[in-house]
Amino acid sequence: MTNYTQVEEIRNIAILGSTGSIGRQTLDIVSEYPQLFRASVLVANNSADLLIAQARLHRPQLVIIGNHEHYDYVRSSLDDLPIEVQSGAAAIEQAVTRPEIDTVVTAMVGYSGLAPTIKAIEAGKTIALANKETLVVAGDLITRLLARSGSKMYPVDSEHGAFYQCLVGESHDDIAKLILTASGGPFRTWEKERLDQATVDDALRHPNWSMGAKITIDSATMMNKGFEMIEAKWLFGVSHRDIEIVVHPQSIVHSMVEFVDGSVKAQLGLPDMHLPIRYALGLPGRLPSVSQRMSIEDYSRLTFERPDFDKFPLLRVAYDAAERGGNVPCVVNAANEIAVAAFLDRKIKFNEIFHIIQQATDWAPFIQTPTYDDYVNTNSETRRFASTLIKS
Ligand code: MG
Repeated sequence: MTNYTQVEEIRNIAILGSTGSIGRQTLDIVSEYPQLFRASVLVANNSADLLIAQARLHRPQLVIIGNHEHYDYVRSSLDDLPIEVQSGAAAIEQAVTRPEIDTVVTAMVGYSGLAPTIKAIEAGKTIALANKETLVVAGDLITRLLARSGSKMYPVDSEHGAFYQCLVGESHDDIAKLILTASGGPFRTWEKERLDQATVDDALRHPNWSMGAKITIDSATMMNKGFEMIEAKWLFGVSHRDIEIVVHPQSIVHSMVEFVDGSVKAQLGLPDMHLPIRYALGLPGRLPSVSQRMSIEDYSRLTFERPDFDKFPLLRVAYDAAERGGNVPCVVNAANEIAVAAFLDRKIKFNEIFHIIQQATDWAPFIQTPTYDDYVNTNSETRRFASTLIKS
């Protein structure tokens, strides 16, 4: 058993997106191991009251509220404490480079994760990556930066945490394929024709995982699984052709790796995000925990089935984007963010999410080897294009 009390120094953590689902659960882990971790920087975009409450409890050195409108409120609410308060995107990019920070947990939503993650990598920080969009949008750029800076990136995603654990002690050359499990989301058993009528409430009713609204819609369309396939490609250096998606409704097997000799390793656990967060923060070891245990006899039936690419065409979109490469995944991500927001605002129907993404990928100029600026432009122009589609 790891004797974690022997760890010489406390690790200072910056949590980008501390008020979201992953951010709150990361703070649970920080509280579980006060002798190991300190939440030094907390960043939230709009949830001012929760950010203030978190700051009072965890006493970070710095809190940043992304939306400047809430700045005065947050600052005056924390007036009696020795906590620095800042606001805005530039402050976030600055904060992740602070010398005392060891680990940056990227748990913000969507494209906004890219810029601060790049800054944190350049500053040599360890990245606990929950923001998969960073790798979907700019996986090649991020991979190059990681190689250059020597900074480490650990996945905070149940599937990628599973791959990571299956690959400990293995050689990259021995990987035959990655088998990415998917719950199938709330529409797994729906007829394809009925999806046209799917409401926001239907889509938000995820069977196994409690998550933020954006990722829950991505799970309903299975875009999330497509993004996870692209995320896995970059994290583990495996071609998208060697990543297979399999639907496993019980969400107990978090993913598997098949090796060249035909052997398959799987990682199992309860569907609880605290587990992959605890694992990512504990690396290179494991953190002992008294958290709830899984009884295998409670799961006498674990089932696996092929995903329905016809019913969930965004799976095909993701594989096509991985095949074409360049700025295509960035286009898909930008169009998806706009379309999902419009669906949540009840401006478009469920199936229109796919149509908007498809039109955006048909429209967008292709860039084979995008620079950072190309990604920025692709993102903003695609968002504009998709927004225009929604208005018309
Ligand atoms: Mg996942």
